[in-house]
Parts: sequence; structure tokens; C-alpha cells
Amino acid sequence: MQELGIRQVNITDSFWSARLTVNAQRAIFHQWEQLEATRCIDNFRLAAGEKDGFREGWFFADSDAYKWLDAASRIYALQADPKLASLIDSLISLIARAQMPDGYIFTYNQLHFPEQRWVNLQVEHELYCHGHLIEAGVSHYEATGSRNLLDLCIKAADLLVNDFLNASNDKTCGHEEIELALIRLYRVTGKGDYLELASQFLERRGRTPLYGIHWWLERNDFLKRKAYVEQLRQDYVAKHPEYASFRLPGDNYTKQPPFSKLRNRINALRGLYAQQHAPIRKQTVPVGHSVRFGYLETAVAMLCREVGKSDWQSDLQPTLEQAWERMVTRRMYITGGLGEAPGLEVFGNDYELDPEYAYAETCASLASLFWNWEMALITKDARYSDLFEWQLYNATNVGMGLNGDTYLYNNPLSVHQGVTRQGWYVVPCCPSNLSRTFADLGKYIYSFEQDKLWIHQYVSSETTVNVGVPVNVKIESELPWNGKVRIFIKPEQKTEFGLNLRMPSWAVSNPSDTLATASGYDPRESNYQIIRRVWTPEVKPLDFNFDMTIKLRRAHPKVRGHAGKVTVTRGPLVYCLESVDNPDVDIFTAQLDPDSLRDEFVPDLLGGCVVLHAKTMDGRPLKFIPYFLWANRGESQMTVWVDSK
Ligand SMILES: [Zn+2]
Repeated sequence: MQELGIRQVNITDSFWSARLTVNAQRAIFHQWEQLEATRCIDNFRLAAGEKDGFREGWFFADSDAYKWLDAASRIYALQADPKLASLIDSLISLIARAQMPDGYIFTYNQLHFPEQRWVNLQVEHELYCHGHLIEAGVSHYEATGSRNLLDLCIKAADLLVNDFLNASNDKTCGHEEIELALIRLYRVTGKGDYLELASQFLERRGRTPLYGIHWWLERNDFLKRKAYVEQLRQDYVAKHPEYASFRLPGDNYTKQPPFSKLRNRINALRGLYAQQHAPIRKQTVPVGHSVRFGYLETAVAMLCREVGKSDWQSDLQPTLEQAWERMVTRRMYITGGLGEAPGLEVFGNDYELDPEYAYAETCASLASLFWNWEMALITKDARYSDLFEWQLYNATNVGMGLNGDTYLYNNPLSVHQGVTRQGWYVVPCCPSNLSRTFADLGKYIYSFEQDKLWIHQYVSSETTVNVGVPVNVKIESELPWNGKVRIFIKPEQKTEFGLNLRMPSWAVSNPSDTLATASGYDPRESNYQIIRRVWTPEVKPLDFNFDMTIKLRRAHPKVRGHAGKVTVTRGPLVYCLESVDNPDVDIFTAQLDPDSLRDEFVPDLLGGCVVLHAKTMDGRPLKFIPYFLWANRGESQMTVWVDSK
């Protein structure tokens, strides 16, 4: 199966076009302003020797600039905004000036430890940062055809090949990202060394003897280096009293489960945290940091796609499938959110899905989207695009506020206090990750191969795909508010091919029939409806009316604290109660009368959305809104799981 480039698909969807416009006109500029305000961009000016000051932000702050550049390039590909182009060009030029002659760039070391590099791969994200630089270079090249950033990335990647190809097994990054970036670079350059290095990085995982000790030593080294940097800061401030010392805003409140610190430490020592506990072929259970896990699985699936059906792949693809199965059946929230424990940011145990502890970082669901897309392409199984859709509408979409300038980092399913959208975060990884993925939406709607065409997502759009002859495809979809979808297929000339249409699990199954998953949502119920026929330019459009009945989903009995509770869903959307809509009831104890549920499209609420009206068992009104829209009206309480008979 092959994918399309984002410029090959024209999105005309009323729901998603609005999102993409906010992304292109507000979010990306807001993020730039924040990167400047928090001095992330200044770090490159310091490294280039063009400014005096002290480096600010986390050791991995460079990655936020690269991810912004990645997002801005993808947005530019859709809409050539000269103001954005000017910011992109100035940042590329700055990166070029900050990069060392041999390709190395990592401002943390360049400014604080100029004689050192690659000394702390497990804790400091040196290779991770290089990975995001490379991804930005590939995206920029794909968007503009210009090689100016790509060539900087090739210089950096060639340095990595020189320093890491055929190196020892401990030479991996604690935070995966470089692997998938190198494969993307291989895809545009065709240079085999990048694919080989990505493969070696993946194969080395879980093969460091006594990894726990290795990690512990690096962690202690990291703490010493951090203390040294803090001393440098104090010395600098003492010498420069005019320097306005700077601290980033605080994170959202997160409710911690018991023994968090102890669990975190054990997790790290066992190698689970960074997926270093076992070789990749034995990693059949999703563990550790949920973003890292998603990037690892994405890279492995990408590698499978590149090497094809070989002996090498034959034992790797089933491993990916087993890990996926375990995730969706036992370790995923009803929203599609991943990562149960705040502080740990990791997968919990099977069925450990407390809604209030839920970390469900926005980036973890984004990583899952990337992985699921690759799985859809290598397996041709509808389940992966089904989960993609569910996570896109719920776990991902919740991450950006309606105006594009506020974000959620962690996404609990139950909030009593302290979680709301913020303009920026201490670790601002999610905003630009969201922006680059929204800009890429067109890529995930269709795929094709000789005499076959797949439609994965029902997003209104138009494209031309070559399945032997060029075929114009147009989707008119009323999702997510209504189930009507119309598909126009117009081949240039009469031809036979198979059209594979994903039948969404939420439309073809009844959740009350089965409790096969922890969350109550089961993407495995999705399938492709295959229409193989001779298509002519005169063929009539295909019409579907997907079932948008309001459904109540129950968690598996092994999920603690969920007995007698339901989640209300309609189509691909998970709903929640937010206190701002329900001032007269306690949303955490209200008893839903399921027979009272009815839907209504409210054009002037939250940009226009379908709300669900209901009553409690004692007759008081309840109002549900889509989960992704919560926290757009200031701080409030929220719950996804509701008491019901
Ligand atoms: Zn993030």
C-alpha cells in the first residue's frame, strides 16, 4: 500500500477545515511567540555566538524549535503564507549558523559542555533532538523542494552514521525518535546508511548488559551536569545583574497514584521506562513511557514497510501486532489516551486505568496515530485506521483549544481540580506535535496500490490517485456530527479496481454485546467493505449513512472503580460532563437515566457541536459535550465515566 503526500489531497471538510485554519493562522504563530518568549530560539543565537545571555530551558529544548519548524513547513505546504515563510527561513538560517562544522548541533552541550558529546544518551535527549531536526528537514524539503534545511540534516545524519554505525549495543537514545527520523531521511535521499543506522539503533534496544546500572550511572552523571549548569547560571547572574533570570510556567496539576516515585525508579532500573528491557522482537507488551513506546513502534513498523516481506520481518510484524492487541484490550482509555500514571508518564499494568490519574499525554496519542498509520499500510487491516480515527477525534483533538493558542498536555478522564488549558508548558512538546499532525491530515485519508484504493477516514476531501489509471475521488462527509457520507469515484477512463471502504467499529458493532477490551471501545470490530467492479466516469456516487445512535460503553469488570459507570459515545466521539454545563448537579455522583438521552446540534456552542441532553434518575437535567471540547470555558470539573443503572 502506498500513501499520498499532503499536497495531493485537498481537504474541504467543514469540521476539519476549521481546525486546520486555526492551526495555520493562529496556533503556529502563537507557538513561535512562545518559543521566542521562553528563549528557546535564543539558545541557537547563543550557540551561533550572536548574542550574550544564558541558555534557557530543558536540555532537550532544541527539539521544540525543530518540531515547530517541522509543523510550520507542513502548514506552509498547504498554504504558502509569506509571513510564515519568513519565520521558517530565518530559523533555518539561524540553525545553519549554530550548527558545528561537522554537523553536530545540541545547544545544551555546545554552550555548557563544549568538549563533550554523546556522553549521556539514556537521559539527555541528544539523539532525540537530532531526530527532530532531521524530521523538520525532510518535511521542509517535501513542502518546498528546497534543500537548504535538508542539507544541514544530511550533514548531521552523516555525523551520526560516522559515530554510531556498527557501534556497541549501549549506543541508543533513551527517548526514541532518531530511528523514525532516519527512515524518513532514507525515504527522501535513498541513502542506505540511514536505514541501516535506524535498523541498528532499533536492534540494539534491550541488549545492554546490566542496563539498570548503566542507566543509574548516566542518571547520576546527568544530575552532576545539571548541578554544574545551575552553578554556571548563578555565576552568570552574579556577573550580570541586569540579566532577567527566567523560569517557565508551571505544569498542570496531576493527581499521583501511590508509590509513584518508587514505581518510577523500578521502572527505569528494569529498563522498562525507555523500552530497554528486551530486544524489540520480544517486546509484545506496551510498557514504559508512552510517547517513547509509540515512536519505537512507529519506527519498527516503518522499517517493516521498507524491508518488505523478508525473513527478517516475519518475526517482527507479529510482535507489533501483539503489542497493539495488548494495548487496545488492556492498556488504553476509552478516549484512546495512553499512559496511566502521572509522574511516570508510563503504561500501567493491565486494566490499571484510573480516570483521574490518567496521564494520556497528547504526544502519546499522536505517536499512536503515526504507528497506526504504518500498521494500516503494512497489514491492510481496518482496525488500525479505526483506532486512528478514534484517537484523532478524542485523545488528540482534545490537546488544542478551539482558538489554537491553549493546550492540554496531560488528558485525564476525570478532573476535580487544577487541570485546564494553558498557553505553554515547561515541557512544550505537544503543541507543535499537534500542529504538524493536523497539517498532515490529508495523508491519512487514502492509500492505494495497483488496482486497489482504500478510504481510511471519512473526511471531506478530493484527490486523484493512480490505481492503474488516474481516478478522481471525492468524499463529502458530515462526520463527526452526522453519519451521512457520499463518495464520488471518477476514473479517467473505464477501468476495474477494488475500492476498500473502512466500516467504522462504532457504526457496525454494539458495544454492550462484548467486554473484550478494558475501555469498552474495540477497533478490532472494524473491517473493509470491498467493492470490486468496473468503474466508469459516469458511475453514481456511493451513499452511506453510518449509525450515529448514542451508545453507552462499559469498562471491563477488571478495571477498578468502574462498576455501575458508563461512557456515552455517539459516532466517533466520546462525550463528557463538564461542570460549567451542569451547575445544579454533582457530575461525579449524578445517576444518568439512559432512556432520557437525546442529541441536538447547537450552532452557537463551542464552534457548533452536537450536545447530548439527558436527565438524572431523579429528573434533573444533564448536558454532555464532546470530550475534545472540554476546558474551553475556563477551569472546571469534568468526567467521562458517569454513574448509571
Ligand atoms: Zn507532549
